[in-house]
Amino acid sequence: MKEKSILHVTQLVKQYKDVKALNNVSLHIDKGECVGIVGESGSGKSTLVKSVLRLTEIQQGEVWFAEKPLHRLKGKKLQQARLGMQVVFQNPAASFNPKVKIIDSLLEPLRQQRTVPSFLSHVSRNEKELAFYLLETVGISAEYALNYPHELSGGQLQRVAIARAISVGPSLVLLDEPTASLDVTVQAKILNLLKDLQETFQLSYLFISHDLAAVKFMSSRMMVMQQGEVIDQFDRANLFDKNRHPYTKKLVRLFE
Ligand code: ADP
Ligand code: MG
Repeated sequence: MKEKSILHVTQLVKQYKDVKALNNVSLHIDKGECVGIVGESGSGKSTLVKSVLRLTEIQQGEVWFAEKPLHRLKGKKLQQARLGMQVVFQNPAASFNPKVKIIDSLLEPLRQQRTVPSFLSHVSRNEKELAFYLLETVGISAEYALNYPHELSGGQLQRVAIARAISVGPSLVLLDEPTASLDVTVQAKILNLLKDLQETFQLSYLFISHDLAAVKFMSSRMMVMQQGEVIDQFDRANLFDKNRHPYTKKLVRLFE
C-alpha cells in the first residue's frame, strides 16, 4: 500500500443471494483527496460503502484504512480502527433517533472516542460549548442543540450529520448520496459546505452520487460504476475525453 493513501480497497466481491452487488471493485483515496463515484440506482454504491465500513460481510477482497487491514479486524479492534472513518448517509431523518436531542446525537461519536481532536483543542471542554462550536461550523445556529430532529429541516439535519461526522477529526468521510433527499437549492449549499470543510480540515472524501454534476463538482478523480463493477475512472479534467467508456459518454449526454 502506498503511504500517501488513506484508503486502499482491492478486488472486493459482495454477493447477495442472487445478485453480485460488487464484482472485483478496487479503489484508492489519497490523503486530502475527494474521489467521486457515480452510478445509477442499484449499481452497488451503497454496498461499497457498507463493505468499506465492514457493516456487511464481503466474500473477497481487502480494505486497508490508514494502513490497517479492516478486512482482518473484528469487534473492539475494528471499532477502534474505524473511528477515523465517518459516514454521512442519504436520508438525514433516518440517521437521527427522533427521541434524542440534537446535542446528544451530535456528541455521540466524540463521547465514544473520549479524546478531543486537535481542531477542537481551542474550544472549551464543556460539552455544550463543543456542540455549539460544531453546529456553527456547519452553519447551524447553536440554539438548535436542544431541539429534537423533527424540529429541523432535512437540510439542517444533514448539516448536523456532517458536523457529527467531522467532530472526531476523521481522516476519511464516506458521503453516500448526501444530498439526494434534499431540494435542489439546498443541495448546492450542502455541496459547498462539504467542499469548504474539506479544505479547512484537509479531509479525504469518498463522494457518492447518481448525479454526475454533483460528483464532478466535488471530486478531483471520478469512477463510474455499473452493475457492481467500476467500468471507467479518470481525472475530472478528462470527463469529456473521446475515449471515455460508452456508458460514461451516455451519462455526460444526459448531463449536458
Ligand atoms: P446503489 O447504492 O448504487 O443504489 P446498492 O449497493 O444499494 O446500490 O445495491 C446494489 C445491488 O445489490 C442491487 O441490485 C440491490 O438490489 C442489491 N442489494 C442491496 N442490498 C441488498 C440486500 N441487503 N439484500 C439483497 N440484495 C441487496
Ligand atoms: Mg445507494
